Amino acid sequence: MMELEARIKEWPLIGPMSEYREIYWGNPRYGQKAQLPFTMDDIDDAEARLKRFAPYIKKAFPETREMGGIIESPLREIPEMAKALNIEGRLFLKCDSHLPVSGSVKARGGIYEILKLAEAIAMEQGMLSLTDDYGKLTEESFRRLFSQYSVAVGSTGNLGLSIGIISAKLGFKVTVHMSADARQWKKDRLKERGVTVVEYEDDYQRAVAEGRAAAEKDPSCHFVDDENSQDLFLGYAASAKRLQVQLERQHISVDEQHPLFVYLPCGVGGAPGGITFGLKTVLGPHVHCIFAEPTHAPCMTLGMMTGLHDRISVSDIGLDGRTAADGLAVGRPSKLVGNVVSTLVQGCYTVDDAKLYRYLKLLWDEENIQIEPSACAGFEGPVHMLINERYSPTHIVWATGGSMVPGDEMERYYQRGAELV
Ligand SMILES: *Cc1c(COP(=O)(O)O)cnc(C)c1O
Repeated sequence: MMELEARIKEWPLIGPMSEYREIYWGNPRYGQKAQLPFTMDDIDDAEARLKRFAPYIKKAFPETREMGGIIESPLREIPEMAKALNIEGRLFLKCDSHLPVSGSVKARGGIYEILKLAEAIAMEQGMLSLTDDYGKLTEESFRRLFSQYSVAVGSTGNLGLSIGIISAKLGFKVTVHMSADARQWKKDRLKERGVTVVEYEDDYQRAVAEGRAAAEKDPSCHFVDDENSQDLFLGYAASAKRLQVQLERQHISVDEQHPLFVYLPCGVGGAPGGITFGLKTVLGPHVHCIFAEPTHAPCMTLGMMTGLHDRISVSDIGLDGRTAADGLAVGRPSKLVGNVVSTLVQGCYTVDDAKLYRYLKLLWDEENIQIEPSACAGFEGPVHMLINERYSPTHIVWATGGSMVPGDEMERYYQRGAELV
């Protein structure tokens, strides 16, 4: 306990955080100059790879045909929701909840990492070159090749879903190590596709550790390391150029008079971190990214605030890490991300689980859009923004998941929201 008091003395916000109260942390290092380990070239490289794979994705996942095999989601204005929440400026929803293939933001990073792996293996075998039509990856000879390799990942659910689906489709042997909080329907979906699912009584960190240990014993196994992966990070970052085009199409300027605020639900930090790096690199100083975490598991807030990153866990300040927000129940932040984005994130806030259900219901009622509870964490963001009245801000709430949630489960979420109003 002494240690907690000492921490509160140094970082006073840890006081309310340790009591599960909501906080907003403004990042004092925001906007400082820093040497980043990635550049625009890395984003361009990721985007070019996703384009090379488009003919494959189009063939393998017919639901992407209309988009030419590019896995992307709409940017939708939600004016009724803006009215209901009394938000100043325009409010948009980035509908990664409805991304094709796996219905969550993990369809960006997770799929990218496995495509990159498949490309490297096929090229090493002399079966693929940069100028080929990647549509040929659906052929049996490639499935046979990939079946000699395996993929493993530890996940609370959505990452496992994304890695499992794409790996199994390419022909890899794939094992998903799932934590206790993962939903049954996610496990069922994976098993249906021939994915091996290993379940743990324990939390996410344990599932990742077990997955890593199992993979280390097998040299032909690629472990997707959610706590440390550059490929995941850059897969998320590639979203930025696409968003830039969507903003232009909808005539949304991003400049001093028109700041853009982006609210990103945060678990281990990879998805919001990669998207933030991408947006700051592509759109510059007038886009402001804010991370949203549950009051029970504010690991990135804690890691960035203290500068301890993965050397501090929410249990170190007495929190239980339990939340209804799938994907956000993470106790310790990524080793990679906190350092990279520590000057790029404007701030972080925490939100009570009950509010997530209320936002879920409100979005359903006002806009007839259904997303999962964790994906609603961004709606609390605009409340925290002090906006100069001479400016016209745009707000984007990044909806990180939902379209694969079974209907009856979604109904229960809605009921929960109705009870909590
Ligand atoms: C994974 C996930 C996030 C957060 O991504 P991290 O990389 O873990 O920070 C947010 N929302 C949903 C629905 C997710 O599945």
